Amino acid sequence: MAKITLNKNNFFNNLDIIARFTKAKDKIALVLKDNAYGHGLLEMAGLAQEYGVKKAVVQHESEAQKIEQFFDYILVLAEIPTASSTKIRYAINDLTSISQFPHATLVELKVDTGMHRNGISMTELRVAFEMIQEQGLVLEALFTHHRNADVLSSEWFWQNDNFKKVKQEARELSKEFGLKQLRFHSSNSAALLRNNNFDEDMARVGIAAYGCTQLPHAIHVEGFKPVLSLYAYKISSRVLQKGACVGYGAMHEMQDEGVVSNYDFGYGDGFLRICSNNYTTPHAKKLIGRISMDNSSFLCTEDEILIFDDASQIAAVASTISYEVLTSLKPYIQREIV
Ligand SMILES: *Cc1c(COP(=O)(O)O)cnc(C)c1O
Repeated sequence: MAKITLNKNNFFNNLDIIARFTKAKDKIALVLKDNAYGHGLLEMAGLAQEYGVKKAVVQHESEAQKIEQFFDYILVLAEIPTASSTKIRYAINDLTSISQFPHATLVELKVDTGMHRNGISMTELRVAFEMIQEQGLVLEALFTHHRNADVLSSEWFWQNDNFKKVKQEARELSKEFGLKQLRFHSSNSAALLRNNNFDEDMARVGIAAYGCTQLPHAIHVEGFKPVLSLYAYKISSRVLQKGACVGYGAMHEMQDEGVVSNYDFGYGDGFLRICSNNYTTPHAKKLIGRISMDNSSFLCTEDEILIFDDASQIAAVASTISYEVLTSLKPYIQREIV
């Protein structure tokens, strides 16, 4: 079966770069949602622990529970708690959900500073504090998310200004409500890497840790290395004559006689089908014909081929982002740390 390898040295290299920006290892909150961006949740949690990362961010409670033993702190971005834990924090994404959180839950309040996806409005801070207190929740942090940190525009700046205002008001409210000191965080990978004066309590870093950032030149940071490589294995080979057509829809016609081999990685496993008949591997093996569910054909004979070792390259062919290439990889593909 197709196989994913995870390069530990590259991962640690990326975390070293990230730690330069956060100025401390324990300000790195590694984003492990979506099976750790397709890398494998438990594999990456284990490596992160080995490196000394103490914080993680996931989408769901069930993911947090699977990795509880690896971290001191786990933030669940979008789920109402069903269990209690001293390590897991839950994001509040709007006012109406507050009444559903069980008493004494550790919560972090998401504030909408301009993305308009999740979070309370900036004008709702006071009422949110009141409702959180009334519900008996433990408010530990406020956070926000940038909608355009990876784009060179004014957006990053005014969202930062908005969050600055939020922080100021929240500090005043926390005194008034007698809360402990609040923590603040707003940076994803791009926001962290374009900030030379990071001074928040943590950064929520995903794609940079996996080594697949695609930032504009002016905010590009050198040195990141992709962690994940994908290998496929030969199922069968055949000699085809000139004029023979390969696969569904007869999309590729042989220009000469040649050997075509069929490999065990298809769109059902996460190979974006739009790459059909239009992709060449890092070792110059040409993909021909349509990608099918569990198969793809290449003009080569090797038993094992490297499909990609940099998701950004496939993303370019597929007109998408490395995030989609990576999170498309199915969890059942074998993962091996190298
Ligand atoms: C996914 C996510 C991140 C991580 O973003 P990257 O661009 O991968 O660093 C950070 N914060 C939130 C709220 C997210 O949903």
